[in-house]
Amino acid sequence: MKISFPHMGTSHIAFKHLIEHLGHEVIPPPAPTSRTLDLGVKYAPEFACVPLKILLGTYLEALEKGADTIITSGGVGPCRAGLYPYLHERILKGLGYDCNIIIFEPPLYNIKDFFSKIGYILKTGGKSWRQFWREFKTAWLKLCMLDDIEILSHEIRPYEVEKGYTTRVYKECLKVIDQAQTREEIQAAKELCIEKLKNIPRDPSRNPLKIGIIGEIYVVLEPFMNMDVEVTLEEMGVATHRSIYLTQWTRQNLIVNTEGSIYKTAFPYLKKKIGGHGINSIGETILYARNGFDGVIQVAPFTCIPEIVAKSILPEVSRDLDIPVLSLTIDEQTAKAGVQTRLEAFVDLLQQKRLHGGLNYGSFSGN
Ligand code: SF4
Repeated sequence: MKISFPHMGTSHIAFKHLIEHLGHEVIPPPAPTSRTLDLGVKYAPEFACVPLKILLGTYLEALEKGADTIITSGGVGPCRAGLYPYLHERILKGLGYDCNIIIFEPPLYNIKDFFSKIGYILKTGGKSWRQFWREFKTAWLKLCMLDDIEILSHEIRPYEVEKGYTTRVYKECLKVIDQAQTREEIQAAKELCIEKLKNIPRDPSRNPLKIGIIGEIYVVLEPFMNMDVEVTLEEMGVATHRSIYLTQWTRQNLIVNTEGSIYKTAFPYLKKKIGGHGINSIGETILYARNGFDGVIQVAPFTCIPEIVAKSILPEVSRDLDIPVLSLTIDEQTAKAGVQTRLEAFVDLLQQKRLHGGLNYGSFSGN
């Protein structure tokens, strides 16, 4: 099969490794661009949230490049995410694409279906279950490493002496990781990347502002969707901390949900799960306030109900805990320059707060 899948941050590097080693050709999902979004917007329902549109655009671009199969995830719970792969399938079939869409629901939702789909991929690739476990473990190692290297790049960038240097080194690291095939090569690549990043000239005398990034998982993880909010802030000399990484989310959600503590943290403000990452956005803001962060930025897709609910509660959290929150709602009209201006204004506000202290700025919308 010629397989493609969603583009979400850097995870495609690990998924590519897995699918290729299971005997299939991979059509790598192109990094989203404005063309991807335009394609999605053209064929998706107008009021669908922006992740549906960008994924539809990604699938269309992958099909144009020769993919005949899309592997994607479903979902359960109160938000629309679980419906999206089925809607994608209907739209693509309606457009005349005769492609195979393999939808993985969470394993505990239908374990038989989950393993029968893996079995189908193995059978068509001529691989055994033993080979699957081996390759799965290697791909997981790669995914963990991608997250580790990205976290390190975020720690280093606010201190870099030459603006843009960390990003250049980080991009080289991604190529090195992509090329590593065995567990030994992956380990060696990790050591090389850590060394490269740690050798970046830095100014340790800086005392950067600290901002936590919260919001809906796809927009948080995919830089094209969030207008590269982390790199933009870090190149302004601000330290960021992202609330979600794919490996951490998978550990906490795929088999058994272990996010109980974040629900407990959010409970005084929100007593029910509302789907997506709505409750997480509240809990994480509280944790960022308790951990001495200067501010929080919520990135939310337009029409995302869980994030709209969270946004309506965040002003109260912000007032009670004295932590400014900027909400950025992203849709197809959002422009990078506009987001940059709002970020600069927010950073300015946080600097004034740090200098003069005591002011309660509350939560405000960036739109
Ligand atoms: S969490 Fe929000 S953006 Fe994501 S699928 Fe659900 S409603 Fe859409």
